[in-house]
Amino acid sequence: MEVNYLDAVIIGGGQSGLATAYHLRKVTSNYLVLDAGVQPGGAWPHAWDSLRLFSPAAASSLPGWLMPATAEAYPDRNEAIDYLTRYEQRYSFPVKRPVQVESVEKETEGFRLHTSAGVFHSRTVIAATGTWSKPFIPDYPGRDSFGGRQIHSAHYRSPEAFRGQRVLVVGGGNSAAQILAEVSRVAHTQWVTLHEPTFLPDEVDGRYVFEVATQRFHAAQQGVTLPPASLGDIIMLDSVREARSRGVLKARRPFARIIPEGVEWPDGTQERFDAILWCTGFRPALDFLAPLNVLTPEGRVEVAETRSTRQPGLWLVGYGNWTGFASATLIGVNRSARRTAEEVKEYGR
Ligand code: FAD
Repeated sequence: MEVNYLDAVIIGGGQSGLATAYHLRKVTSNYLVLDAGVQPGGAWPHAWDSLRLFSPAAASSLPGWLMPATAEAYPDRNEAIDYLTRYEQRYSFPVKRPVQVESVEKETEGFRLHTSAGVFHSRTVIAATGTWSKPFIPDYPGRDSFGGRQIHSAHYRSPEAFRGQRVLVVGGGNSAAQILAEVSRVAHTQWVTLHEPTFLPDEVDGRYVFEVATQRFHAAQQGVTLPPASLGDIIMLDSVREARSRGVLKARRPFARIIPEGVEWPDGTQERFDAILWCTGFRPALDFLAPLNVLTPEGRVEVAETRSTRQPGLWLVGYGNWTGFASATLIGVNRSARRTAEEVKEYGR
């Protein structure tokens, strides 16, 4: 039986997938974007209600079309979803959704993709599946014994569910700081971080993150390695500043174990909590690549820029700095997306 091969399949239709499609469409029209989401916007529809972007609209844009000015300086979740929806329509990308890619196997001329909508064949595969669907919770002793509620930031929506409760917020990044800021208005909170949290100066926003990434990128091109930038440092949004003024941004180091009623601290004292809010990050959503034997123990893929070094025909866009500086941001993903499309073109020759 003759098999019809696509030139490329982009798996994931969030900001990384769309940025890649923007460049890929100049290389071929024989490609598809397969996206598991029921609506456009990638991870954004799943984010908590009050989430705002770190950078103003113009600095939160994908290639080709700036995000339109938003009601307030920093776009909210719905404005990000609206932008991505219109971006997708503007360029008429061939997005199919909801289509979950379950596994990718190698075959003679390319790849066989098993999906919720049947089998697809493609000469190349570009994974752009992000991390949101793979929340990570560290394995503390006694975690399963906890009698209260445990929820990861991936599933947190608003503080109301915690009103009047005693809530432990775990994690030292921006998710933790933003969620702590609003939950602490209605609940008693305790913040736990591995190290003392690092707060950026008040006047700094997400543009700084991109500038740092750009400096590192240019330095690396000239063979100079700048010291690691702490891109996870906390950005002092209004809500976080307000929480600081209430004195709730004080973190202590982790507990020794979790007990049914709460936690036990290293000095043996016990404290009662009704809920634990895990703001402990995510892992790359790449389980569907298991048949290719390219996944590292951390669930990543070894890459040179975005190209898999072990599997010809496979690229990864987004995810984090390991696939390109600031590649998990709207403004930072362009470089990775453009380069990937160029490499896919070369590969086809
Ligand atoms: P996603 O948006 O997660 O999209 C991946 C898509 O792939 C999804 O639609 C998913 O359904 C689909 N998918 C997953 N698995 C499969 C599969 N097996 N088959 C088919 N489809 C699949 N970013 C910014 O740019 N600016 C900001 O200001 C900013 N602020 C943030 C603030 C906070 C507090 C947090 C937590 C994040 C922030 N981010 C910001 C980061 C941003 O949310 C993510 O980095 C971004 O969504 C990643 O985009 P992506 O396209 O790589 O992945």
